[in-house]
Amino acid sequence: MDYNTIIVRFGEMSTKGKNRKDFINKLARVIKKSLTNYEEYYSMDVRHDHIYLNITDTSNFNYNSLKEVAGLHSFSLALKVTDIYELDELCDICLEQIKKEEGKTFKIAARRIDKSFPYISDEINRAIATKVLKNTDLKVDVHNPDILMSLEIRVDGIYIFTQTINGIGGYPSGSTGRCLMMLSGGIDSPVAAYLMMKRGIEVTCIHFASPPYTNSGVILKLEDLLSKLNLYQEKINLYIVPFTKIQEKIYEISFEGYPITIMRRMMYRLAEKLANKLHIPAIGNGESIGQVASQTVESLNVINEVTNMPILRPLCAMDKLDIIELSKKIDCYDISIRPFEDCCTIFAPVKPKTKPKLKECKIIESKFDFEPLLEEAIENVELKVIKL
Ligand code: ATP
Ligand code: MG
Repeated sequence: MDYNTIIVRFGEMSTKGKNRKDFINKLARVIKKSLTNYEEYYSMDVRHDHIYLNITDTSNFNYNSLKEVAGLHSFSLALKVTDIYELDELCDICLEQIKKEEGKTFKIAARRIDKSFPYISDEINRAIATKVLKNTDLKVDVHNPDILMSLEIRVDGIYIFTQTINGIGGYPSGSTGRCLMMLSGGIDSPVAAYLMMKRGIEVTCIHFASPPYTNSGVILKLEDLLSKLNLYQEKINLYIVPFTKIQEKIYEISFEGYPITIMRRMMYRLAEKLANKLHIPAIGNGESIGQVASQTVESLNVINEVTNMPILRPLCAMDKLDIIELSKKIDCYDISIRPFEDCCTIFAPVKPKTKPKLKECKIIESKFDFEPLLEEAIENVELKVIKL
């Protein structure tokens, strides 16, 4: 059917009481950004329950980018008609539009939001259905219709639609807080960053680089990954922490099976320091239970011991195959699998401990004064800003 309006719904957000206005305005800005190429073909009407896009030229307009806007739950392509006072007139319009749809069965579902409209929903449904039955071969099916024609009768007009498209849901980026995401360049961490963004978290990234063991290709890779994630967050700060000295030291003094555990404890410590400096209240990463030795619950417990900051692990209970599927969906997979040496893979011991002991970690760590090294690393971070 024809459309001249897009009704945008934000579902879950509507439960958020007093923050609601901020959320809606933020969502409106993100929608605007996603439709930059079509600015001249639409205007936006932001209301407390929905956002309406009035499309002036549907042939040049493309709504596909709306499917990627965090916080947008669904949208409908609607025909808005105004100055309709007679039911007959409305029935004629609906008949004309339903003829353009494919299917054998239909249902009419009217909602009278403007109670001053002189007919109740039931009357409207019956009148339109009767008109359609008389003038087409369509049959009514109230349970599972091929064509569901919905009508919303509002003060400013009647919105008729048959098509509702799902968005990614969640909250608009940056509306629920901030998180410092540990970004490695592998498959998992960009997906973790995406899930946080989708949840409305503003993500800042931290990467531990170990040149010359890891080459500069890693940084390019991270920039490419983040430019994909720009679709969900317009501007992403990436902090690169020089990690070589610390890592060499760890390998010098660790007992067999312990370097990975100690290395991850140091990563958490560094992440916490940077997070505090940036006033970010949480750390995030791509850890998933059971995926590798450092990701057993026992291991996480020992690693986590170094910080009180919440560690958000959105992939914690996900299967690798599901993570890969998401990675492909957000267009990161091909970048993530580009070969590069990860600091973890270079130094990985033959047999990492799956159940490391906290006592052992403390003994190893007491063998060197790591605080100054951590401070030095934080002082020498490099910032890259990745923008849409
Ligand atoms: P990924 O696919 O994200 O690299 P992984 O399965 O390889 O994850 P690990 O290497 O154990 O798992 O890393 C677990 C998490 O720790 C990563 O998802 C990432 O959040 C973080 N991480 C690992 N290496 C680095 C690094 N060099 N810089 C920043 N974060 C890192
Ligand atoms: Mg990795």
